[in-house]
Amino acid sequence: MSTTGLCQICERATASHSCRQCGAVVCEDHWDADRRLCADCTAASAT
Ligand SMILES: [Zn+2]
Ligand SMILES: [Zn+2]
Repeated sequence: MSTTGLCQICERATASHSCRQCGAVVCEDHWDADRRLCADCTAASAT
């Protein structure tokens, strides 16, 4: 079973990171390296 796949947010770019909160695999564009979260979780915890 491959660990690589498409970003679960944009479904276009290759995912290279996995969110530590929700487990989604995301591409560089949808990855917050500081928080180690996907863009969805970053937006949810932005406030
Ligand atoms: Zn993406
Ligand atoms: Zn997430």
